[in-house]
Amino acid sequence: MLVGKSYVIRTYGCQMNEHDSERISGLLEADGMWRVDDEAQADVIVLNTCCIRENADNKLYGALGNLKALKQANPDLQIAVGGCLAQKDRDLIRERAAHVDVVFGTHNVDRAGELLSHAADHGPIVEILEATSRADGEAFPSALPTRREVDHAGWVTVQIGCDNTCAFCIVPAVRGPEISRPFGELVAEVEDLARDGVSEITLLGQNVNSYGRDLALAKRAEPGADDHHWCGHRWLEDRRARPLFADLLRATGAVEGVNRVRFTSPHPKDMRSETFEAMADVPEVCEHLHFPLQSGSDRVLAAMHRGYTAERYLEKLREARAAIPDLAVSTDVIVGFPSETEDDFERTLEVAAEAEFDSAFTFVFSPREGTEAAQMEADFVDHSVAVERYERLRVVIERSSRASNESRIGLTEEVVVEGPSKKDPAVLTGRTRRNTLVHFLSPTPLRAGTYALVEVESAGMNHMSGRLVDVTLPARRRMRIPVTAL
Ligand code: SF4
Repeated sequence: MLVGKSYVIRTYGCQMNEHDSERISGLLEADGMWRVDDEAQADVIVLNTCCIRENADNKLYGALGNLKALKQANPDLQIAVGGCLAQKDRDLIRERAAHVDVVFGTHNVDRAGELLSHAADHGPIVEILEATSRADGEAFPSALPTRREVDHAGWVTVQIGCDNTCAFCIVPAVRGPEISRPFGELVAEVEDLARDGVSEITLLGQNVNSYGRDLALAKRAEPGADDHHWCGHRWLEDRRARPLFADLLRATGAVEGVNRVRFTSPHPKDMRSETFEAMADVPEVCEHLHFPLQSGSDRVLAAMHRGYTAERYLEKLREARAAIPDLAVSTDVIVGFPSETEDDFERTLEVAAEAEFDSAFTFVFSPREGTEAAQMEADFVDHSVAVERYERLRVVIERSSRASNESRIGLTEEVVVEGPSKKDPAVLTGRTRRNTLVHFLSPTPLRAGTYALVEVESAGMNHMSGRLVDVTLPARRRMRIPVTAL
């Protein structure tokens, strides 16, 4: 019985994991549990893990080591480990940390509560399922109750898994093959969120712009399936072979109450002109594109199995910028991928300089167990060389980031308030449509989710500062608690 018990959830990794944590929280609360912030007060501690980020294993096993004393002091405490690292490490988690009660993976998030109850009655349990072991409806955790962290913004998972084979990435192994959610179901979820006060939607997937590739096949395999369920009425109107991601952007933007639509992450090789056209046509879609480059060397891109060349990447970027006025572009770059030479790296510097990114997540390569790149040990780049290259890349990225932010000085930007600044609670923080952080003062407190106009007065590399000009839309109040029993 979970009713009346308290829980803490700690999330590692990406937005996908944060969204999974919202669902785990929603499920536990639908079972009658309540959330606390302090592990020492909790009856259940859930660690939702990630194996993509560097040192993920060390971080998890370090955290579990720290929890051992709590478990010894309170044997009734239950510790659960879920997410990608659990999917990958399986029994190893309990071998290394025997005080863990429940291990669950990425394909049975919906069973977190049941597994905790089972463990309370029968002892520790490890349950890891394969992506293919469940029917489509079960595999999508999106139908689960959700406890959103932020009232005004909501994530919507458009697909799970990934069909690509990037040599450095563990995602296909732990999240399984790509499965798109039915179009009609997604639009219905956005409508529900909008009714619940959400005005900013972020569409999530590992490769969002290949969305729908598998839906036509699924529909053909199940000809009797309800068309509205698979397709939704908007897509049915023009009856193309399959819905595109662009259709989803248009349908999401058309939902009443939705003011901003974002998405992450697209793959450059699958980026279609239709997506750029939809971004340009639909006013709700924000002028921000996350466009992961990874490397500027064609040789390294081929070794990574990325499926594009540097020139093709730049061509698509030019197309995006020509189609979408005022577009901000962010990227991911890995420095020191196995066998990267100085010449390869200089290509990356050149492409980064030409692309003039507004921001970038840059990483020094580190092998992830289970990936192809981890097997390339003989070609590993000396760490000090990779770090030195990383620093040179940082200078190039910082130059374009700063220039981009400084070019906004004097402009008035629409900002959605996120809350008080972490450094100074008297200062408010919000995000522009181009996804830049803005700090500003307001004579009156403004709730998170308020839309305001802010004139930019100064800019740094990662943020801008300005003065409040006007409040255009007060934050909407939520009408109900967003946790629904199944
Ligand atoms: S596209 Fe590549 S990097 Fe992205 S999730 Fe798939 S395999 Fe990983």
